[in-house]
Amino acid sequence: MRFVDEFRDGALARGLAKAIRREARAGRNYNIMEFCGGHTHAIFRYGVQDLMPDNVRFVHGPGCPVCVLPIGRIDNAIELAERHGAIVCTYGDMLRVPASERRSLIKAKADGADIRMVYSITDALKIARETPGREVVFFAIGFETTTPPTAVAIRQAQGEGLANFSVFSNHVLTPAAVGHILSSPEVADHRTVAIDGFLGPSHVSSVIGSRAYEPAAAEFKRPVVIAGFEPLDVMQATLMVLRQLNEGRAEVENQYTRVVTRDGNTKAQALVAQVLEVRETFEWRGLGQVPESALQIREAYGDLDAERRFGVTTRCVRDAKSCECPSILRGAKKPTDCKLFGTSCTPESPIGSCMVSSEGACAAYYTYGRFRGGATPGPKEAAE
Ligand code: SF4
Repeated sequence: MRFVDEFRDGALARGLAKAIRREARAGRNYNIMEFCGGHTHAIFRYGVQDLMPDNVRFVHGPGCPVCVLPIGRIDNAIELAERHGAIVCTYGDMLRVPASERRSLIKAKADGADIRMVYSITDALKIARETPGREVVFFAIGFETTTPPTAVAIRQAQGEGLANFSVFSNHVLTPAAVGHILSSPEVADHRTVAIDGFLGPSHVSSVIGSRAYEPAAAEFKRPVVIAGFEPLDVMQATLMVLRQLNEGRAEVENQYTRVVTRDGNTKAQALVAQVLEVRETFEWRGLGQVPESALQIREAYGDLDAERRFGVTTRCVRDAKSCECPSILRGAKKPTDCKLFGTSCTPESPIGSCMVSSEGACAAYYTYGRFRGGATPGPKEAAE
C-alpha cells in the first residue's frame, strides 16, 4: 500500500475485523492499552472499537504530552512571562490547559503577559533574533518525537551566541511511563485496571526504535506492538497483540515496518544525548512522580536552560477535584465516567487537560460522539 486512503479501506478493514473475531477466544478478555492519543483518535474517528468483538477492549493511555503535563509546570511557564518578563513561546494546544487558580497561558496573555503561539521551536529562535532586548523562552513539551528539533535548536542558539534565548524543557519519555503503569498496584493485581498488551506509538519509535520497549515487555510479560496511526494499522496491530496473547508470548513486534526499525534513528538519538540528559524523576499528571521519565538540558548548555537561568522551582498542584483526568490517563476510568463530561466540560469550555488537547481522550469521545452509544449515525465508516 502506498497512499493514505488505502490504510482506510473499508474492504480491508472488514477482512481484518473478521480475522480479529476468529483470533479472539471466547471465555477470555483482551484489554489493550493504546498508549498514544493519536491511536485513541484513530479508534474513535474510524469506529475501530465498534468493529471489535465484545471481549476486545481498548484502554486509553497517557500518551498525550499536553494531557500529562502537571499543573505546576504550566504555573512555571506563566511565571516566566509574568514575573520575569519573558516572551514565552509554545504550541497552540498548551494555551488553554488549566493552570492553578483557574488560570491558563491564554488567560495570562489576556492579562498582559507576552505569550505567543508558535508552530515550532524555529519560530521561537526567530523571535529571539528579532527581539534582542527581551528574554525569549520556548516552552518545550513532547515525547521522543519532538526532542531532536529541541536539541538542534539549542545547539544552533549556542553556535549563534543567542544570549536571550532559553528552553523550558518538559520532554517526557514513553518507555519509562509504560514500565511505570505496568508496575503500579492497580495494574499489577490485574483487577483494578486490566492491561493485557500495548499498542506502542509509531512516531516515537521512528526515533527510539522498537527495542526501547523490550525491557518492559520482558519484565511485565505484556506484548507490545508498535502501531501506525491509520485505522488499518491499529487493527493489524491489535490482531498481532491477540496472536501473541493466545500463543503465550510477550514480545515487542513492529507493525509499522514502513518507517520503524528495531534501533530507530541512531543519528537523532546521538544528537539528543549530546544536549539532553535523563532527569532523576518527573511528575506526570495522573501517574505522579515517574523515575527517569523526562529530559533536562545538560550542564554544557546550561545558559540555554530556562530552569537554571530563572531559578524555576515546581510546586505539586492537585487537579480540579471533580476532574477525572488523572484516572483516565492511568486507564482506570473512561471520559464518560466523569460527571462533568459533555456538561460543564466541553472542548469549548474545558475543565481538564484531556478535553483541551486535540489528542486527549475526552476530546476524542466528545468529538466523535461514540459515547452516545447507538444514537450516533455512521459509526463504522471505516468498514462500510
Ligand atoms: S470530561 Fe473534563 S473534567 Fe472530566 S475528566 Fe475529562 S477533562 Fe477532566
